[in-house]
Amino acid sequence: MEIYSDLADAVGHTPLIRLKGPSDATGCEILGKAEFLNPGQSVKDRAALFIIRDAMEKGLLQPGGTIVEGTAGNTGIGLALVGASMGFKTVIVIPETQSQEKKDMLRLAGAELVQVPAVPYKNPNNYVRYSERLAKELAKSEPNGAIWANQFDNVANRRAHIETTGPEIWEQTDGKVDGFICSVGTGGTLAGVGMALQPKGVKIGLADPEGSAIHSYYTEGTFKAPGTSITEGIGQGRITANLEGFTPDYSYRIPDSEALPVVFDLLAAEGLCLGGSSGTNVAGAIRLARELGPGHRIVTILCDYGNRYQSKLWNPEFLEEKGLPVPAWLAHDSRTLP
Ligand code: PMP
Repeated sequence: MEIYSDLADAVGHTPLIRLKGPSDATGCEILGKAEFLNPGQSVKDRAALFIIRDAMEKGLLQPGGTIVEGTAGNTGIGLALVGASMGFKTVIVIPETQSQEKKDMLRLAGAELVQVPAVPYKNPNNYVRYSERLAKELAKSEPNGAIWANQFDNVANRRAHIETTGPEIWEQTDGKVDGFICSVGTGGTLAGVGMALQPKGVKIGLADPEGSAIHSYYTEGTFKAPGTSITEGIGQGRITANLEGFTPDYSYRIPDSEALPVVFDLLAAEGLCLGGSSGTNVAGAIRLARELGPGHRIVTILCDYGNRYQSKLWNPEFLEEKGLPVPAWLAHDSRTLP
């Protein structure tokens, strides 16, 4: 039996789950890395842990110090939970338009919330820019100092995947893995796993949602972001520091009309309750499987747990409003006797 010394130790070491439907449909073996089993229920716990450890090692984060980040989602939850387990406070700057669900979730994770108006990046009160300034102020006023996590351009984020996610996949498959694919938010997961596995001969793919410009950058050299997506936490309009120095072997644009049926099937047929980005990833794995041909083994990321999206992805009214397909079993929740 293994006993972890704290919650931070319980981050990572996630299982690989064979995805039956996608594997049977392609003649490949498609495996999902179950990142939703992390303590904060997402892949971002790994980045949070490495960002915190990096700041501690550099002497920037003192015991009892404060971690500040502008984020609405999984990174904030990871920073708050992992931070608490290591004795730090977390302040999350969030646009006030974000759903109540997300605000409640961050508070449940123990974060202090600072709500700012939802304004574009060029406005100094944009949540990311505000968080940078707030971190600088708190560094002066908080007794134990403060840091800005800066997940997009802090390469401690991708180091988490170079040092943990990539090697875990290699060990769990005994080096028998032909392809890896995932989407990009900060790019930490794709570039980090890519940098760990590409030199070993694993083909790396990008699964980009509509409304994101990374696919067009890799395939045409320009940033174009046609369409929109209801997936959250993914999509990017620039090459972040985490993406620099990495190029995937394959790239696909995955519309929601392709990703959502996959995520619905994963719950109905395999008991996996996930968020939309996992659908984009598994749909991408199916495309990569078709590209490489039958008999290959492909790994992708199951990013986070579905309970985070009850009012959107898992809400039939919301899907109908957006003109997206609603699976019959989600549309009605009661059965009556004939
Ligand atoms: N899926 C979800 C749900 C996320 O929150 C994120 C992080 N923004 C990602 C995927 C993408 O991960 P990364 O930041 O490592 O590119």
